[in-house]
Amino acid sequence: MKEIDINTPSVTSKIHCGEGVLDKVLPKVLSGRHIFTITDSNVNRLYGEFIAQKLAPHGEVHVIPAGEKSKNYTCLARILKHMLHSGLKRCDTVVALGGGVVGDIAGLAASLYMRGVHLVQVPTTLLAQVDSSVGGKTAIDFCGVKNIVGTFYQPETVIVDPLFLSTLPAREIRCGLGEIIKYGGLSASILEKLEKNTKNLSSEIFLKDITYDCISHKADVVTRDERESGLRKTLNLGHTTGHAFELYYKRKSHGEYVLIGMYYELFIAVERGICPPEYAKRLLSLIKRVVSVPAYADADRACAAAAYDKKNVGGGEISIIVPVCPGKAAELRLGADEYSALIMQCARSLAEEKQ
Ligand code: ADP
Ligand code: ZN
Repeated sequence: MKEIDINTPSVTSKIHCGEGVLDKVLPKVLSGRHIFTITDSNVNRLYGEFIAQKLAPHGEVHVIPAGEKSKNYTCLARILKHMLHSGLKRCDTVVALGGGVVGDIAGLAASLYMRGVHLVQVPTTLLAQVDSSVGGKTAIDFCGVKNIVGTFYQPETVIVDPLFLSTLPAREIRCGLGEIIKYGGLSASILEKLEKNTKNLSSEIFLKDITYDCISHKADVVTRDERESGLRKTLNLGHTTGHAFELYYKRKSHGEYVLIGMYYELFIAVERGICPPEYAKRLLSLIKRVVSVPAYADADRACAAAAYDKKNVGGGEISIIVPVCPGKAAELRLGADEYSALIMQCARSLAEEKQ
């Protein structure tokens, strides 16, 4: 069992990570508190007994339908209404038990209700454990734009227990691996570990170990730049193009699109002479271990969506994060036309490779 702290000017967020932390830490965290649990229909079905025994006796349980479609305004309003009607007070605690969707919407509700109540995150997917439950970003999708309405709101406690991974489908493991490989483009030690374990990336033992490394990396970045004015932007590696593809093609999981986005963006980084080809090759081969990268014939159309990404700076410029050398990534801004041309060049080179 390990502990990691995120210290921001206003709050300390404590992350407990490892086998058995749920049993050990949760009772202490909840002792004497009135809580409002938010979970989704799948997690409620799979972990109903746990919820009934360990969470429900401390307060209310609100179940949202599973899936990204719940990350909307109506669902948020329903949660807030239930919080109000159940008499939740300023000193009470919201517990988010679920994947990234539950974490994002429950975090937003906790930050809004009475201008903020205590928040405990218990992430149950690999993606939420390695990435989204840590760092205090909350959001819903709005008017077709992903994560466009949200807040920065640090959870007091995050409990990351690998026991939840035993029920996760392979697709969700691959989704989490997408973010884990992203960290390989940001941390030299994570990259080395990934390369040493290319044959057992999905194994339980490896995932337990690498989860801690990814959280540590993120905690360090968030401590230094909570509001994403500089360094934290690097955590968006693969996401500008990945989000655009995700929005347009909609077939694969978020993590897979992050990897596909990272592949296309690495191509741009090499073309622009920012990333040495030998280093890019190491990252590309890891990406290909987890996902097959499509040669999208209409990639430029998909990428027009990137212009709506909130990370972009306006004035027609697209911002992407590019790996520079092991352990270092930087922001690159490109004109929309140049970006689109390079994306198409990558798609064509992928198509040639496949012939
Ligand atoms: P993500 O965590 O990938 O951002 P979701 O929160 O939508 O996205 O979770 C992905 C799917 O996995 C959802 O259908 C959710 O209900 C389901 N899920 C969450 N945790 C578990 C778990 N421990 N075992 C099985 N399925 C789970
Ligand atoms: Zn992501």
